[in-house]
Amino acid sequence: MLVAGGGLVGLTTALVLRHHGVEVTLVEKRATTSPQPKARRFHRRTMEVFRELGIAGLVHEAARDLAEHHHMAAGRTLAEAEQLPLWLPSAPDGTYLEPGPELPCLVAQDVLEPVLRSAAAEAGADVRFSTELTGFTSGPDGVVAELHDRASGRHEQLHVPFLVAADGAHSPVRTALGIGRSGRGAIGGPAVNVYFRADLAEVVHGREFNLCQIEHPDAPGALASIDGRSRWVFMAGGGTERDWAALLRTALGVPAPDLEVLSVLAWQPEMLVADRFSAGRVHLAGDAAHVMPPFAATGANTGIADAHNLGWKLAAVLTGAAAPDLLDSYDAERRPAGWFAADQSSRRSADLRSAATADEALAHPFVLAAGGFQYPSGALVGGPDEGGEIEPVDVFAPAGRVGTRVPHEWLDEAHTRSTLDLAGPGWALVVNDDPAGWEHGAASAPLPLPVHRLAAGFLPEGCALLLRPDQVVGWRGTDPTAPADVLRRLLTGAAKCLRTSAAAVRT
Ligand SMILES: Cc1cc2nc3c(=O)[nH]c(=O)nc-3n(C[C@H](O)[C@H](O)[C@H](O)COP(=O)(O)OP(=O)(O)OC[C@H]3O[C@@H](n4cnc5c(N)ncnc54)[C@H](O)[C@@H]3O)c2cc1C
Repeated sequence: MLVAGGGLVGLTTALVLRHHGVEVTLVEKRATTSPQPKARRFHRRTMEVFRELGIAGLVHEAARDLAEHHHMAAGRTLAEAEQLPLWLPSAPDGTYLEPGPELPCLVAQDVLEPVLRSAAAEAGADVRFSTELTGFTSGPDGVVAELHDRASGRHEQLHVPFLVAADGAHSPVRTALGIGRSGRGAIGGPAVNVYFRADLAEVVHGREFNLCQIEHPDAPGALASIDGRSRWVFMAGGGTERDWAALLRTALGVPAPDLEVLSVLAWQPEMLVADRFSAGRVHLAGDAAHVMPPFAATGANTGIADAHNLGWKLAAVLTGAAAPDLLDSYDAERRPAGWFAADQSSRRSADLRSAATADEALAHPFVLAAGGFQYPSGALVGGPDEGGEIEPVDVFAPAGRVGTRVPHEWLDEAHTRSTLDLAGPGWALVVNDDPAGWEHGAASAPLPLPVHRLAAGFLPEGCALLLRPDQVVGWRGTDPTAPADVLRRLLTGAAKCLRTSAAAVRT
């Protein structure tokens, strides 16, 4: 397997593939991980993926600088800013929601990428930085990739069964495949990220924040904490040609004598989704497949979910456990998910004070952040496109519907094991019944299918959920003889796997 691109998504893809025992080479044309601290908020669902990969602890450790920085803030200048109340999501009955076993994590991309790079290498991935994918041909038997080692100047051909293109928004692989993109395009005007250093620890002490909205008429923008002490990013609209040091001092409202501008990055918020996520043996993931404005902190999180979805399917096909048709479900599942995340992100406001005044089409935030999106079709039996029950998006009310992530429930009093931990890298069957009949039925399944009996209340009596390796409910039912056959159908691609058209995805 070859992964092109060593950003957050490429590195996670390599980790997921190693988790499933797949040999993987990752090439990244840059010599180092990203020097830009762009993404900082990693949602609960992403942390669940890292939990499964055994690196959630490492990521939380890397995130310790911003552990107390979950508040938003706003004010005319930083010096005058006040923390805004922390939003705690509640269930429809008003009670506090604990949607999963992991908390979200605030860690800058330039801190997280080295953690993922080391973890991927430690897990046995062949991680090659300073190496560019310069071309490829994809045929029925595999992909021939042309690699250029920029450090030594050496050229090499690599024959691999599949290529995952995690090569970013401008994806050369997507362009070479002639895959177009659809969507709203530019959202708002051009933006600038000014990355700077200044010791502001004393200024923010007691008012720690994730993002601080600066409302000064001469310096409007948002200030992002990178380490909460001396590294900051000021996000503004407009062009790059300004006296940034002077503008930053106006925004800060303090002299900041040691202020040093490290970089000025121009970018454009956009909403665009690839018209196909797969072409033969090549699959797109991350920004190569979808770009979205950062207002819901969703771009990298959605890409990491792509990697989690694709990884087990590639592994199943490579080991011969599944037919290649299973891979059709990647586009059927992840393209609607990418469209949904991009659409929701472009509806969200950059204004922190008005974040609560919602567009009616806005989903409950946990639907984005805690894996609440329901796949309409794909490697599922009885999903929404086959008449199955539909998951609402205006509330977060997971109920084990087909095509959704299994609801979280702690399995022990110490809260160490969750229902999420029952699947991945393998499949699992969870039942609310005498497990004996289900175990008998599962014995004839084509892959190991451990049966877990859950406490009453998690499921209606007599009901079972078939959990895929990505903890998504692939089937739900009451017939103990069914899961073995359902699993066989899912693996052979015989289950209904609709190719959702771009138009259908948009509705
Ligand atoms: C201001 C801002 C804030 C953001 N905040 C958040 C946030 O809080 N949460 C969130 O989830 N997302 C956020 N995002 C989005 C997030 O940064 C991106 O979605 C994410 O970085 C995409 O990761 P990726 O791995 O898909 O692509 P990239 O990070 O672009 O990585 C692609 C890599 O591929 C390499 N490459 C390209 N071509 C080749 C080739 N031919 N051979 C080898 N290597 C190649 C590139 O060098 C690059 O390193 C934010 C974005 C911005 C701009």
